[in-house]
Amino acid sequence: MDILHPSDAALLIMVVGLFYLWECIRWLPKDTVCFISLTGECCPRHVFGTLFGNDRGGLAILSLLPGSRSILAQQWPVSMSPDGVLAYVSQSLHPTGRLTQTELFFEWRSIRSIRAIGRDVIVNDIPFVHTCSPAFADHLASVLHRIGEAPRKERESIIEDVLHEMLDSHAAVERLAHYHQETAVLAWLNWTMFVLTFIAAPLLLCLNAISRSAAACLDVLPCLYAIVWLLNIAALHRADRTLYPSQPAGRNWQRPLSMLSPATAMKSADILFRELLPATHPLVIAHTSLPQHKFRELARRVLLDIRHPVRPVCQIDNELACRTEAWFRERMLAAMNHFIESLGEHLDDLLRPPTREGSDARSYCPRCDGQYTLDEGTCQQCGGIPLRRFLDTEEEETRGELSL
Ligand SMILES: [Zn+2]
Repeated sequence: MDILHPSDAALLIMVVGLFYLWECIRWLPKDTVCFISLTGECCPRHVFGTLFGNDRGGLAILSLLPGSRSILAQQWPVSMSPDGVLAYVSQSLHPTGRLTQTELFFEWRSIRSIRAIGRDVIVNDIPFVHTCSPAFADHLASVLHRIGEAPRKERESIIEDVLHEMLDSHAAVERLAHYHQETAVLAWLNWTMFVLTFIAAPLLLCLNAISRSAAACLDVLPCLYAIVWLLNIAALHRADRTLYPSQPAGRNWQRPLSMLSPATAMKSADILFRELLPATHPLVIAHTSLPQHKFRELARRVLLDIRHPVRPVCQIDNELACRTEAWFRERMLAAMNHFIESLGEHLDDLLRPPTREGSDARSYCPRCDGQYTLDEGTCQQCGGIPLRRFLDTEEEETRGELSL
């Protein structure tokens, strides 16, 4: 006996398909990079959330298949100093420039409360920063709380520790290995549900009218589906507790409850992966997962952006807030230089001027590498950064001889 009429079953599959596609799309802050892997073992490409968006963020298509993975990494969204915290950074990973930020500044002594609600961090009951994930918001809130509670003389070393943690590639590799170990069964169950939903069920529905065995299989399919679904929820709950042991009370039931949608259940291993490295800088994930030339490309962009931030660098009408931004940028640059050199890269090689795109190119922008036929001027795309002139061959040779 048919449990479900074939036309109803077809409609149900279509609805699940639409929900599944919805699970693959996410709104991301503009300073977030989404690394996507087709195999689940590494992340061969990275994308920015620019499918459709505004100056705060955009829609990104995450991994589509159950076996593929997407991991979100956001640049650190606040400037910190021993004096206070500012919801503004001058850096921008996104090619189109800096995202709109709240630019709120609090001296540590004036902070009464810091908490994370969903993807937001709330300071003194005022929305302070929007992040790419609840895990990132939790982490940021706990860091700010730790710095705010510490005596002033200890704050600098805590901030240095936070930067070190952000750029710790060994910890990132270990965490990724831990994830793959803990989700092997879950990944297999995700694939099984996907195949049952989008391949086995439609096939059996098509063959139902002409094959008795297909009709018999169709009868047992709902029971089989329910078993796999329940196993999926159980495996997700176990992996979730192992990978995120310190998440706030109540959060550890959110993911299993969301698996009451089969579309979400099929993506559960990927959903766990997305927030795996909330405290890690995108460049570290790029180092662990991208080909070397792609990593060097991103590293160059990040370094140039910190050295030559888009102008105006800080327009906030608060001198202490702008000093906080400059203080933090200086520490971030030092930490980033150290991280890149520790990988065996030479900063001089990485930061050498771009190759001339034509004989009429006379100057370039030191931030975005845009090339100009002018001898001097400014780059409007970067807010007016002064251009640098390409050295002529003779000048380069003279400079080389002098340096010898
Ligand atoms: Zn430029």
